[in-house]
Amino acid sequence: MPTKLGQNFLQDKEIIKKIIASSDLKEDDFVIEIGPGEGALTEQLSKYAKKVIAIELDDKLIPLLEKKFSDTKKIEIIHEDILKINLPELLGHFVSKEKNYKVIANIPYYITSPIIRLFLEQDIQPEEIILMVQKEVAERIIARPGETSILSVSVQYYASAELLFEVGRDSFSPAPKVDSAVIKIVPRRKFDKEADKKFFRIVRSGFSAKRKTLLNNLSASLRMEKSSVEEKLKTAGIGPTVRAQELSLENWKKLASLFQK
Ligand code: SAM
Repeated sequence: MPTKLGQNFLQDKEIIKKIIASSDLKEDDFVIEIGPGEGALTEQLSKYAKKVIAIELDDKLIPLLEKKFSDTKKIEIIHEDILKINLPELLGHFVSKEKNYKVIANIPYYITSPIIRLFLEQDIQPEEIILMVQKEVAERIIARPGETSILSVSVQYYASAELLFEVGRDSFSPAPKVDSAVIKIVPRRKFDKEADKKFFRIVRSGFSAKRKTLLNNLSASLRMEKSSVEEKLKTAGIGPTVRAQELSLENWKKLASLFQK
């Protein structure tokens, strides 16, 4: 039976322990959890953090969560869609003074990329993001030159990303159709709206058609003569037959600066 809202609840206590151990929680940490579900991870997070702000969309889970955590002030349940919530306001309310918050969650897989983007593009970025995601998506996020995609470039432009451990489908109820992995993303570059828009315009153009060369993609998407694109590629030390997935982050940065001239 397909699960509504990506609801696969973690049953395996050992996995919850491993997530907690990976997150190096401190007693003054604020944690944002997306999709607390029945609260299994939430409960453990609250033992080690100052406060857990748990954002859950499903109407049916809210009374259950409120009841379960009625006797603690360390857990704040917010009934909202993570992609619609006013996150800057929420962060301003809870964490702006402390400046340290972590995002730790077993997220609904269908919105993995928007969730990661949402936090990396905040003025107040989290100290770290620890997420359970689909295993293949984890592998795409940490991909190295040769196998990169817009997703890996987007995450690695802002942050370092590592796959911490894999999690089999039997650790969940109901078991999903895919295997999972826990990843750790640590932001190291601030969001800069104007500069980043220019950078990603080049990245998106480079990846626009999968099988085509970078040269063809850039020239078609940016409506530029092939000869002038080829010249810029040459200046960046990139040959005419190279494909976007082969580029390193440094290559992209160099290209973005060359195409702005
Ligand atoms: N954290 C729980 C656990 O580990 O057992 C549940 C994880 S389950 C994979 C994903 C949770 O995200 C579900 O509780 C689901 O209702 C919730 N969810 C789905 N879409 C959401 C959204 N847009 N905003 C907030 N929560 C959402």
